[in-house]
Amino acid sequence: MGRFIPLSIPNFEGNERKYVNDAIEQGWVSTGGAYITELEKGLAEFLKTDSVAACQSGTSGLHLSLIECGVRPGDMVLVPTLTFIAAVNPVRYQFADPVFIDCDDSLCMDPDKLRAFCERECRLIDGSLIHNISGKCVKAVVVVHVFGNLADMEKIMEVALEYHLKVIEDATEALGTYYTKGRYAGKYAGTIGDFGAYSFNGNKIITTGGGGAVTARNAETVAHIRYLSTQAKNDEQYYVHHEVGYNYRMTNLQAALGVAQLEELPEFILRKRKNYELYQECFKGFSFGKLLGFRSGTYSNQWFYSLEIPMDSIQGTLRDIIKRLQDQGVQTRAVWQLIHEQKPYQEAIAYQIERASYYSSCILNIPSSTQITEDDIRYVAEQVKIVLGEMANE
Ligand SMILES: *Cc1c(COP(=O)(O)O)cnc(C)c1O
Repeated sequence: MGRFIPLSIPNFEGNERKYVNDAIEQGWVSTGGAYITELEKGLAEFLKTDSVAACQSGTSGLHLSLIECGVRPGDMVLVPTLTFIAAVNPVRYQFADPVFIDCDDSLCMDPDKLRAFCERECRLIDGSLIHNISGKCVKAVVVVHVFGNLADMEKIMEVALEYHLKVIEDATEALGTYYTKGRYAGKYAGTIGDFGAYSFNGNKIITTGGGGAVTARNAETVAHIRYLSTQAKNDEQYYVHHEVGYNYRMTNLQAALGVAQLEELPEFILRKRKNYELYQECFKGFSFGKLLGFRSGTYSNQWFYSLEIPMDSIQGTLRDIIKRLQDQGVQTRAVWQLIHEQKPYQEAIAYQIERASYYSSCILNIPSSTQITEDDIRYVAEQVKIVLGEMANE
């Protein structure tokens, strides 16, 4: 047969080779060079924000955001449990404690449960939110815009304002997603809270191989993040440092790739949306799988597609489904296992986790590369229907 449709692969149809070669020829391959500043400017313009700092990964961007928030050892940070673990690990890099919050039906953090935790488990003392039982200070919340779908930022920002929480948006999967209606109309994912982190890892909507970026409410904060990411140099020539810095800066080689990818971003988003629409058509009326939607009142980059499978009516597990589809040349993936159940986090507080457990057991991601053909999509949908249909009747 020989047909193989990958889950998500990068797309280099534009100026990637040209710009990367240029960076090599100029000899600027490391953490200095014009492509880095060009990428930062391009991203800021695209996101309609003042300033952006390019860094080595989405994870390092999240870490720098937590540092800039003032998260210190022994503080608490509210995080989702249904997400990629990189959204949570930086909390531990600061020796702070994550508190896991449930998701709503968008797969993003449930704002009502976020509020309930602040209201019932904590109290405000001298302007700080203090956890009743432990006496620890709850400093921030990390909100992930899962698969390109905006979290309910209107409600989340209200809770954050009321309970004095800093908001870090993990927009690693949601570059290009924005509100079209409501209080935040025109605002992009990552530019609503205090900080926004982006990722350019290989499977994200644009890639620099590995890389990321951070934005914040004002240019001074971003400048300080950039300073921390480049070893906190107060005097470059004479090696004077006033703070503990990090080697978190993006390289010019990565940025060269990034500048080319950013040129293609609008086209990539259009393709993601068109492909999603075709999947929708293919799965219409199918009873053993429902394609999850994206929040209304937003324009989503529709980065990843999720099929909700009624596991009660299927004989077998998600792993069995993935294996059978793999045999048909269709690569799929189960959504993440919950973070509060993973070894490093089993001692952490997990607050009223219900829906995350349900979704963790029944979401399958299906191929979503920007270069996938219409024929491929129809083939994927057909194979999914055959496999699930068979497993339902076994
Ligand atoms: C990809 C991703 C990250 C991490 O980004 P890297 O660039 O791989 O470090 C963090 N959070 C989420 C939700 C992600 O999908």
